[in-house]
Amino acid sequence: MDYSSKISRQVAAVPRSGIRDFFELVLGRDDVISLGVGEPDYATPWHIREAAIFSLERGHTSYTSNLGLMSLRRKIADYVGGFFEVEYNPENEILVTVGVSEALDLALRALLNPGDEVLYHEPCYVSYMPGTLMAHGVPVSIPTRNRDGFSLKPEELAKGITPKSRVLIMNFPTNPTGGVVSAEDLAGIAKLCVQHDLIVISDEIYSELRYDGVKHVSIATLPGMRERTILLHGFSKAFAMTGFRLGYSCAPAPLTEAMMKIHQYSMLCAPITSQAAAAEALDNGASAMMRMKESYHQRRDFVVSRLNEIGIECHSPGGAFYVFPDVRKFGLSSKEFAMRLLETESVAAVPGDAFGASGEGFLRCCYAAAFDELKEAMIRMERFVGNLG
Ligand code: PMP
Repeated sequence: MDYSSKISRQVAAVPRSGIRDFFELVLGRDDVISLGVGEPDYATPWHIREAAIFSLERGHTSYTSNLGLMSLRRKIADYVGGFFEVEYNPENEILVTVGVSEALDLALRALLNPGDEVLYHEPCYVSYMPGTLMAHGVPVSIPTRNRDGFSLKPEELAKGITPKSRVLIMNFPTNPTGGVVSAEDLAGIAKLCVQHDLIVISDEIYSELRYDGVKHVSIATLPGMRERTILLHGFSKAFAMTGFRLGYSCAPAPLTEAMMKIHQYSMLCAPITSQAAAAEALDNGASAMMRMKESYHQRRDFVVSRLNEIGIECHSPGGAFYVFPDVRKFGLSSKEFAMRLLETESVAAVPGDAFGASGEGFLRCCYAAAFDELKEAMIRMERFVGNLG
């Protein structure tokens, strides 16, 4: 059978993830130091795992409300109110989802009509472009640059806005660059969003992992922005809970209701065991989270200083757990550099172009790996670039 005619054009148009292609090469090799996978190297803190176990022990194995357990939504409202300083009503403005991944998909599907344009800064998380295509939208990438610390510059954003622009996806701190946005840029972006009546999907999954004593600021706190922002957050990164698959969106009631409609028919609800674990994370997870954050901060400083020392130029990113060094001077494409590094020194890092064309010439290295592994990876990278001449 010719299956190509059976598959939706939207889905057929979506390219495979560059990360997946690369990691298929790494699978089954135990000599490789991986700076590739974007997740914490910690297991979920024990008291959070225990809460999941207790929940199962008590026989809590049912569906929950479509929006998520009311008790969890109240805790989320408190946490978001305290951390982001934006108030949301747990009755109708908070939706518990299967990770930020689901929340992002719901937001795009709830907002877009065919042909609507979705702006996002690039290099960016691998889901934004495919998620937009699958929701029948038109992706419009706005390049960000090393010299700006990969912040989104309002003047660059302005160039991408057309009468069809409907949505801006933002992600600071950013995967894959670790970039953050300055207060000035954020204010400029907010002004453009109000002026052009854009809805912002703000993916703030790395917001706790902001370093150098700087406080994270959500665009939702800026004048005129709460009403036009869908704030996405979750437990995967800061609480080391990727496998629990739990996230949430905070947005004005009509937007939450639209997302909930899709969620109730496609997902029904997020898993109750994960919701119990998330409640424990919010109640008692702060100190473990701070310890992990402190450790990432130290690892960032180590990796940035070693990379620059060995001649691989790397800015010091303000957040997340990625560095995005510039490898252009070695005369290889990102892919060639990453492939040869893997083949000759068994270090896996993701070619920057996996995160969009503007990532070409860079490499994403996730430093959420053990210190000893990071040290060894730097020794191997030093030898690798030394041998390149
Ligand atoms: N957004 C960004 C920027 C991410 O890096 C990730 C995970 N790598 C996600 C969303 C998805 O997170 P979740 O585990 O909550 O689905």
